[in-house]
Amino acid sequence: MKCPRCKTENGTRTICSKCGYFMYHPDIANRQKMTKGQQAVADTKIVGKKVGKVLKYVWMIIVLIVTSFWLVAGMVFLMGLITDG
Ligand SMILES: [Zn+2]
Repeated sequence: MKCPRCKTENGTRTICSKCGYFMYHPDIANRQKMTKGQQAVADTKIVGKKVGKVLKYVWMIIVLIVTSFWLVAGMVFLMGLITDG
């Protein structure tokens, strides 16, 4: 469920994972009770999402560097072909 205070999606949690806002909904709490293991998995997913976001930016930067390197390498190669005649 979405936190009414900070609009963070918290799934079946009753306490917001971001701001700690208490969102009590008996129907949701009764429908799906999470064991400690499931809760740990859910918490790992939340952390994984954050790490994934950072990794996405790191990956984009790496791709940019590699792409620009190959562009420059290709240009140098072409220039060498032209100057060699
Ligand atoms: Zn919140």
